[in-house]
Amino acid sequence: MLKLAIQKSGRLKDDSIALLKECGIKIDNRRNQLKVRANNFPLEVLFLRNSDIPGFIENGNVDIGVTGENLLYEKSPDVLEVLKLGFASCRLSIAVPNLMDYASVNDLAGKNIATSYPNSLKKYLSSAGVSAQISEISGSVEIAPGMGLADAVCDLVSSGNTLFTNGLKEVELILKSQAVLISSTELNPDNKEILEQLTFRINSVLNAKNKNYILLNCPNEKIEEISNLLPGMRSPSVLPLQQTGWSSLHSVIEETQFWESINQLRNAGAEGILIIPIKKMIL
Ligand code: AMP
Repeated sequence: MLKLAIQKSGRLKDDSIALLKECGIKIDNRRNQLKVRANNFPLEVLFLRNSDIPGFIENGNVDIGVTGENLLYEKSPDVLEVLKLGFASCRLSIAVPNLMDYASVNDLAGKNIATSYPNSLKKYLSSAGVSAQISEISGSVEIAPGMGLADAVCDLVSSGNTLFTNGLKEVELILKSQAVLISSTELNPDNKEILEQLTFRINSVLNAKNKNYILLNCPNEKIEEISNLLPGMRSPSVLPLQQTGWSSLHSVIEETQFWESINQLRNAGAEGILIIPIKKMIL
C-alpha cells in the first residue's frame, strides 16, 4: 500500500483530487477524513498541510506527495522529484511599491524585505551579491509595505492581481514553480511498483492535456498538403468517404496549434472540421 500526501486545504487540493479521479482512482472523502483508502488502487491518501509534506516524505512517514516546486527550493528536503504535474503554476518574485525608483537588484541593498520564503530569498540575494534585511512573516505578505512593515516583498505570484491591488510592481523573478509529485528515496519494491503504475496513469492524463482529436474532410488531391499541416502522433489516418474523390483525415492537434493553423487548413480545402477533447494519451 502506497501512502500519498496531498494538501488538506488550499490551492493544491482540488487539482490533486481531480488528477487522481482522471487516473481512475476513486477516493470517497465525503466525511472530510484526514486519511482515506482508494477503493480500486493500492493507495492511501493522507490530507496534510502543504508545508509539512516534504518533511514527512523525507522522514519516511509518507511515501509520496504532491507539493509545489517552490517548497522544495525553500526547504531542500532529501526527496525525489518524480513528475511535474502541470497545475498550480506560479512564480516566486520580489515586488516593490509602484512609486519606488527601481533599476536593478542593487536597489534592494539595505532594504527590509518581507517574505514567507526566507531561504529562497537569501539564496537569491547572496547570488546577486546584495545584502538586505529579511523579515519572515507567514501570510498576507503583500500588505507589509503598505503597513510600513517592509520596503519590499518576496512572494508567490500567479496572475499578479494581489500585487496590483496592493500597489506593488514585480521586479525580480526568483523561480518558476508548479505542482510536483515527490517521493521518498527509500520506497520498498512493492511500493516502487505501485508508484510506477501511478506515474504511468498520470503521464497518460498529462499527455492528453490541451490535445484534441481533429477530424476533417477534404478532396483527395489536398490530402498531402493538409497532412503536412497536421503532423499528429505519427501521421494522420486517411479514410475514404462514401462520396468519390473525398477523404476524412484524423489526427491529434494541440489547442494553440489548432487556432494557428485553422486558416491554412480551410484555405487548403478542409471542410467539416471537428475538434474533440482527448481524455488519455499513451505514447
Ligand atoms: P497555499 O494553498 O496558499 O498554501 O499554496 C499552496 C501552493 O500552491 C504553494 O506552495 C504554491 O506552490 C502554489 N501556488 C500557486 N499559485 C499560487 C499563488 N498565487 N500564491 C501562492 N501559492 C500559489
